[in-house]
Amino acid sequence: MAFDLAIIGSGGSAFAAAIAARRSGRSVVMVERGIVGGTCVNTGCVPSKALLAAAEARQVALSADRFPGVRAGAEEVAFAELIAGKADLVAGMRQEKYTGLAAEYGWEIVAGQARFGEGPVLEVALAGGGARRIEAEHYLIATGSAPWTPPVDGLAEVGHLTSTTAMELQALPGSMLVVGGNYVGLEQAQLFARLGVRVEVVEMRDRLAPTEEPELSAALAEILLDEGMGVHTGTVLSQVRREGGQVVAELRDAEGCTRWLRADEVLMATGRKPVTGGLGLDAVGVRVGERGEIVVDERLRTDNPRIWAAGDVTGHPQFVYVAGAHGAVVVDNAFHHAERGLDYHHLPRVTFTGPQVAAAGLTEAGATARGYDCECRVLPLEHVPRALVNRDTRGLVKLVAERGTGRLLGAHVLADGAGEVIATAVYALHNRMSVYEMGELWCPYLTMAEALKLAAQTFTRDITKLSCCAA
Ligand SMILES: Cc1cc2nc3c(=O)[nH]c(=O)nc-3n(C[C@H](O)[C@H](O)[C@H](O)COP(=O)(O)OP(=O)(O)OC[C@H]3O[C@@H](n4cnc5c(N)ncnc54)[C@H](O)[C@@H]3O)c2cc1C
Repeated sequence: MAFDLAIIGSGGSAFAAAIAARRSGRSVVMVERGIVGGTCVNTGCVPSKALLAAAEARQVALSADRFPGVRAGAEEVAFAELIAGKADLVAGMRQEKYTGLAAEYGWEIVAGQARFGEGPVLEVALAGGGARRIEAEHYLIATGSAPWTPPVDGLAEVGHLTSTTAMELQALPGSMLVVGGNYVGLEQAQLFARLGVRVEVVEMRDRLAPTEEPELSAALAEILLDEGMGVHTGTVLSQVRREGGQVVAELRDAEGCTRWLRADEVLMATGRKPVTGGLGLDAVGVRVGERGEIVVDERLRTDNPRIWAAGDVTGHPQFVYVAGAHGAVVVDNAFHHAERGLDYHHLPRVTFTGPQVAAAGLTEAGATARGYDCECRVLPLEHVPRALVNRDTRGLVKLVAERGTGRLLGAHVLADGAGEVIATAVYALHNRMSVYEMGELWCPYLTMAEALKLAAQTFTRDITKLSCCAA
């Protein structure tokens, strides 16, 4: 039997496509070689945020004495219990949001490894042994990405953790070297630090969160240092060896100076690469680009008109909401000739550290590079009533606006709940609002979202002179 749509992978992009196709009455088959649900639910968003939430609960207890009269504390973490709890949560969500949905919408998930043969056709090496040939009108490559590690002397012999294996440990190490100061590395670093591990972060670029505004990077580094982590920017891990049960790591800075650090574990968070190996792409004329990504046009179609790609494997921003949007676009284009693309201009991004880093739109440097004459304001959280009553004024808001019109070009937030705040900024960016309008709109008092309004008001007034409850 030939299907309307055959999908390789069962992550966010695959499920979005399968649901969209089934809703329009198409027959679907999905092939998965690993665990159903892919990265987000099994090894990415869900487990990392579940463990970060636990680490935050411990941190909240340990820092409760910032409120006069409140005493609290935290004991050592029973890590194996925490990991088992996380595994239960993941299993429940996998069943409810993935496996169960496939049964409900009515498509088969074939356990096995898929590769293309001429036709195109899918040749599946079944997990239980044997093979199956699958034919379809359209095919979707939704094979995601996998951790990528640069070559480091001694690393293969010493071994290392990735975000996936770190979140499967059964006991907390005493110390950990986290290589990579971007979003996965920062989240993992703070997660383990807040659970009681001595953590050092190494970042090759000259600052943490190197694609964010420099003000946010600097403030975040200060916060992590204050929480007891070590931060080494402009530094690479040049070699490692094992000595007395520990890893001894050589760090080399931009001037070529070296220093040695010891740690129980090394966690490599140096990026993720699209998964395309063994797919037999040559047989069906699908090209792979320089970064290992499947080359697609704006409609997510590959060079083969019957083969599409979605999610991390395309080299597009690695977020599950992008993957999900891709899946739906592919179905619209393949079956309804919608000729749809996606606009990433106002795509928000969040790093779930405490406080969170969130941004949407252009940075100051990005706006200038695009020829905008821009005007920027930075509002430290000490001017935000919500932060004051929380007795936690760590963080800031930076707004980038076009000079003259005041049109908002970018919003950048380091704050408790920054991910929620940035959703508001996306609406403002989408509607081409000016900071003058944003400064005049209703905003509930004593929310963190008010930081956005106050930051907007700094374009026209000295907000340090406002009464705290004034609009
Ligand atoms: C630690 C971590 C935290 C993250 N946190 C967030 C977050 O908070 N918010 C967010 O938006 N995003 C987050 N992400 C990113 C997000 O998880 C990914 O962008 C998203 O899951 C990608 O979905 P996908 O459908 O492209 O691929 P995946 O979900 O990776 O699915 C690909 C699937 O294809 C299967 N496969 C591969 N090759 C074959 C083959 N030949 N045959 C059969 N099956 C195959 C794989 O086994 C896999 O299950 C995080 C990622 C990580 C690693």
